[in-house]
Formats: sequence, C-alpha cells, structure tokens
Amino acid sequence: MPKKVVTRFAPSPTGYLHIGSARTALFSWAYARHTGGDFLLRIEDTDRERSTEDAVQAIYDGLTWLGLQWDGEPTLQFGRAARHAEIASELLARGQAYYCYCSPEELATMREEARAAGKPPRYNGMWRDRDPSEAPAGVAPVIRIKAPLSGEIVVDDHVQGKVVFKTENLDDFIILRSDGTPTYMLAVVVDDHDMGVTHIIRGDDHLTNAARQIIIYNGMGWDVPEMAHIPLIHGPDGAKLSKRHGALGVGAYRQMGYLPDAMINYLARLGWSHGDDELFSVQQMVEWFSLEGLNKGAARFDFVKLENVNGHYIREARPEALYKVMVETAREVGREVDHEGLLANRETALAALPELQPRAKTVLELIDLAQFIYAVRPITVDPAAAEHVSGDARALLAAALEALRGLNDWSVPAIDAAVRALAEVHGLKLGKVAQPLRVALTGRTVSPGIFEVMVLIGKKESLARIGDHAA
Ligand code: GLU
Repeated sequence: MPKKVVTRFAPSPTGYLHIGSARTALFSWAYARHTGGDFLLRIEDTDRERSTEDAVQAIYDGLTWLGLQWDGEPTLQFGRAARHAEIASELLARGQAYYCYCSPEELATMREEARAAGKPPRYNGMWRDRDPSEAPAGVAPVIRIKAPLSGEIVVDDHVQGKVVFKTENLDDFIILRSDGTPTYMLAVVVDDHDMGVTHIIRGDDHLTNAARQIIIYNGMGWDVPEMAHIPLIHGPDGAKLSKRHGALGVGAYRQMGYLPDAMINYLARLGWSHGDDELFSVQQMVEWFSLEGLNKGAARFDFVKLENVNGHYIREARPEALYKVMVETAREVGREVDHEGLLANRETALAALPELQPRAKTVLELIDLAQFIYAVRPITVDPAAAEHVSGDARALLAAALEALRGLNDWSVPAIDAAVRALAEVHGLKLGKVAQPLRVALTGRTVSPGIFEVMVLIGKKESLARIGDHAA
C-alpha cells in the first residue's frame, strides 16, 4: 500500500498571513485532501522578537477564513528546540557534524580571502578535521554539518525538475548555534521528519535550502520527502509582489469584502491549472488537484481579475449567506451604522439582495448599495449626484410625487406604469425621470432598479424621500 500523504504548511508568524503563503497552504491542503492524506500546520516561531501571539493568531484566522483546516494540533517549532539539539548531537556522534570554534575575526578573514579569490564567501572547513583537543578555552562552539566535499546534490522536484547543486557550492553550514539553539535549516528537517511529512510544497525561494536540507537528511539516514518548489508571485509589473502593488495580508482581503471561495479560486489559478478552467469550486479543485498541474512560470497577481472573480462569487452566492457576511464585515471594519441598519432590516436586505448582487464586486460595495434600505431622512446625497435633484428636477419630482401618491397598488408594474406615463406627459425619456427619483430615494446615481427600491422601502418612505427634494 502506498504511504499516506502528509503535507505541511510551515509559516513564520510575521504579523499577517501573506497571500503568497496562503497560496502555498492551499496547494499543500489540496494535495492532502485529494489523496486522502493529512495536512499539518507548523508555526515556525523561532524568531522570538517577531513571533507574537497576535501574529500566530493571524495565521489561524487566515487559514480558517479560507477554509484550509489543518489536521491535528499545530506544531510550535520553538518548543521543539531540545529535540533539534538532540539531533545535532546525533549527527556529531555519527561523524556527520563537528564543533567549530572559529572566532568572528577568523570568519571575517575567511570571507575576505574568498572575496579576494573571486569566490563566494564560504566557510573553509577550518575545524572539519581538527581534533577537539585543540579547542580554544572559554569558547562556546557552534555545530556545523559535514557537507560532502565533491559530487552533486540533486533536488528531484515536482515543479522544477531535476535541479543539480555542486557540493563545492554548499559549505559546512551551522546547524546549532553556540547558545544551543537550532538554525532554521536543522529545525525544518527535524520537524518535517518527526511529523512524517511525505511532500513538501513551498516557495522556490527555498530551493537552495532544499539542497542543504538533503545533506542533513542524508547525515541522519532519513528518507528525503518529495518536493515541489513553486514560483513566487509577482506583481502586475513583473516585479516581486510587494506592498506597493496592493494589500498582502489575507485579512485585508476579508476586510475589503472578498469572499473566501473567490480567494481560493483566484489563488488556485495563480500557479496551478486544470485545462482552461477558470472558475471552479473548492470541491472541484480538490478533485482535480495534482502536483503536475503546478506551473513552472512565475505568476502575476492581477488585482482586477481577482475583483472580477469575486464579483462572480457574489452573484452566485445565496442571499442568506451574503447577508451574514455583510453584517460581519460591516462590524469588522467599524461601520456601525451599516451594521445596525442591516441587522434591523434583515427581511428587506434579503429581498433586495438579488437586485444588488449583479451590481457589486465586493461585499463593501454591496453594503454601500444596501444603504438606501436603512438611510435616515433627509438622506445624504452624494455630491456627484446632487445636480440630479436641483433646478428643474425639483418640479419634476413634485409631479412624480403627485402621480405616485395616487397609486393604490404599490407594485413594480404599477409604479413603472405611473413613472412612464409621467415621462411621456413631460416629453422626457424614462431615464430623465428615473435619475432624479434614484438620487432622491438613494442619494446615489447607482442603485438597484428604482421601482424595486420603492417597493422595498415602501410607499410612505418613498413618498417622504421624494418629497424632501420636490418643489
Ligand atoms: N518558515 C518558512 C517561511 O515562512 C518556510 C519553511 C519551509 O516551508 O520549509 O518561509
């Protein structure tokens, strides 16, 4: 029976969950789900300065929001330092590592010499074969791995293919610092081994690390996991994705009103493909996912496309589900009036949503579009819309008020007929009457169908809002 697949996501808590990391997590998660394996979470919190509780929580929150549920309890790397040190000792015992007593000055000289010889600055193996009895007194040593002196290390990667590293370019790097703490290189290998990880999927900025990590695996005689190093995400201009391109934290997208399914769909397409499929459910992605579908070329983050994908998911969403997200988002971003207004007008909001959905690309836009429901008179008119309720428009609104007041049947067809008749009497196109009405009723030039708006807020409120601008 083939071994059960175990993947992992190993973020360093840096304050937020980066969208690039979220994509890495998505691929690891999808592969585990596709194969019926486990998806493990390891928080690499060895940088004690940056690893705050908030930063760790941001990772949990981001993954949970996206629906990338990990299996079992998360592993906290810092707590495993004793185990890392134990493996460093075992490597020593196996003759695969050694103590190095170099002083900072000696290391500086080494770098200088390498530079002068036109070589990359590398440790020259000074303590590799020296007898520990030569150790200077009072110096706490580091432990270095014994990297092979000749030959090659091959990373047989699912995305990059066979990547060959000449060992002469890989020096005897440090695995345990003089204070007994592990380096990243050692901690990752020990943890991946102990967690039973079979497949490492991560950014290709770790490709060279992979070659170094293989040296540690070999030193311990451990199986090297399969690897897939995915190209990093670039901005629309081709440069490495950075803050100047747009928001980088997953939480920021939630606050801007993106839906998790839209994020998943968009991030999945950013570096993975299944034929020409652009829009697919999470379920479908899991069904289709394979490491072979990961793309080798760098992906460019297209903010406009993400917005369009989000618009698609907003149109497709059930009003009940969307309403819930609107209420939560309004609260999260501190829009108390909207939060309260939506809560107090649940039925109207639900009835309005099918009208609003095709007009919004984000949940924040939906909230804006829904404001007419609970707006309090006199409602604020958007400055860009003010001209539609001034001058001649005021007399037109007065005529509309009269016509509408006389209606007994307050339905879309009845209101529609009345407004059309009015436009005809004044020799105007329907839009010339509809626009002042829209602005009087909603304060904006963009809204759901104006007859629907009137039905949704009711006759009394509609007439009052129109009356506020009629003369
Ligand atoms: N903690 C590392 C990072 O956030 C990832 C380590 C790994 O995936 O091996 O870049």
